[in-house]
Amino acid sequence: KYTALRNFHSSKSVSMDASSKKGAIAVIGAGPAGLAAARYFTAEDSPFDCQVFEQGDDLGGTWRLSEFVDTDDKGRKVHSSMYKNLRTNLPKEIMCYPDFPFPTYPESYVPSEKVLKYLLDFASHYQLRKIIKFNRSVVQVRPFKKNDDDTVNWEIKTRDYLTDEEFTDYFEGVAVCNGHHSEPVIPEIEGKQEFDGFIMHSHAYRESCPFKGQRVLVVGAGPSGLDIALEVSKVALRVSLSHHLKSSQINFKGKSVQQVTDILRLAPGKRVEFVDGTKDEFDAIIYCTGYKNSFPFLHEDCKITTDGFGVEPLYKHMINIEHPTMCLTGLVTFVCPFQLLDLQARFFYSLMSGKFQCADKREMYRELKADQHWRRNKGYGPRQAHKLGALQQEYYDELAKIAHIKSIDVVVSKLGLESTKRIYSDLCSFREAKFKLLDDKNYLEL
Ligand code: FAD
Repeated sequence: KYTALRNFHSSKSVSMDASSKKGAIAVIGAGPAGLAAARYFTAEDSPFDCQVFEQGDDLGGTWRLSEFVDTDDKGRKVHSSMYKNLRTNLPKEIMCYPDFPFPTYPESYVPSEKVLKYLLDFASHYQLRKIIKFNRSVVQVRPFKKNDDDTVNWEIKTRDYLTDEEFTDYFEGVAVCNGHHSEPVIPEIEGKQEFDGFIMHSHAYRESCPFKGQRVLVVGAGPSGLDIALEVSKVALRVSLSHHLKSSQINFKGKSVQQVTDILRLAPGKRVEFVDGTKDEFDAIIYCTGYKNSFPFLHEDCKITTDGFGVEPLYKHMINIEHPTMCLTGLVTFVCPFQLLDLQARFFYSLMSGKFQCADKREMYRELKADQHWRRNKGYGPRQAHKLGALQQEYYDELAKIAHIKSIDVVVSKLGLESTKRIYSDLCSFREAKFKLLDDKNYLEL
């Protein structure tokens, strides 16, 4: 069957190395999610072989700042949305993987360079580099039946960016860790063609200096929108932030950022009309309107679909119900990402190791429908298909209970929620706070 597949796919080159033997796990992406998965699947007592495919030339994912904005010098689409001067929006005391703390830096909210260094140290500590194939883009993932029983395996096609070679490998399980902050959502706003100013998305934002002396409109009041508005206001002539939260929810503490309503339409010249009837002129618009979930490499036989926000059918927002040997990590939002990614990696590792089994398919679908129903009743929109926020601890505990693994300490969600609240109530100075964890439930503000 392998030979037949090999001929059928007529790849330029086909590797059938160690990764085709039983127990091979593929991890797609070497960002924080992929590194967490790789750590467990390569641990000394792991019965698996693990192979990580990373399209970039180094690890770190989002945390690796790119000097390019669209495609890089090798023609690759730029993955990272990182910008200069970014400091984390979670304190390092809880942002870390659970048993791998950040070094004892004096500050709690560290610059992005320190997060990248942390990930490099993590990869060195667990000797992960040797199992990462860099410059290898996963171009197709497809389930196939190896034997006449119902065992599903995965056929993964990759392309090497340096040599242009194509490879096909076979795996027992696959962890999809390709990240969720690379495909910009750009709102369709009337009059875009007539507008003479500069329009961009925060995915391409790297630094504030191009906006020196300009009139800038930042759209969207998520963490990036707030951060970028504040940063650009230090050099711009003036900055307005367009959003639909209550203005009183965001405290710019006298900094020169004006808050305006949603855009109604763009107009000839540099004019912008807002839904409350006001008008203004801007040289540049920066859309900080978020990102879509996208899995262009998943063959339709994987049975995963998405409208860009909700991804289904997933059990516990991560396990492919149709093929439970595939997990998609990091989809849940308003969480503590590294802690969550570590927990999901342990959950998937335990599942693949046979330490527990998922509920049967009908029950998984029943749970999924119940969750979707609950969200609709709460008035949640498509973007909140995987939102947790205040529910995060419950979710963490549930995963832990099902997989018989340790949950995330309560102090993590407690301080995480407090920190997120302060982004809005104390935007200009929340990063000056310093924290110390006292135990698994309590923290102290120093
Ligand atoms: P990523 O970091 O995006 O990594 C995905 C990896 O997969 C990349 O290396 C990519 O090249 C690779 N990949 C993608 N497609 C393929 C393919 N087809 N083949 C091979 N490889 C592929 N989180 C925090 O905890 N604290 C913060 O302060 C914080 N600030 C943020 C600020 C910004 C501007 C952004 C965008 C995000 C921020 N986040 C923050 C969230 C951040 O996304 C997570 O911390 C974390 O990076 C998610 O890890 P990931 O591995 O899922 O995705």
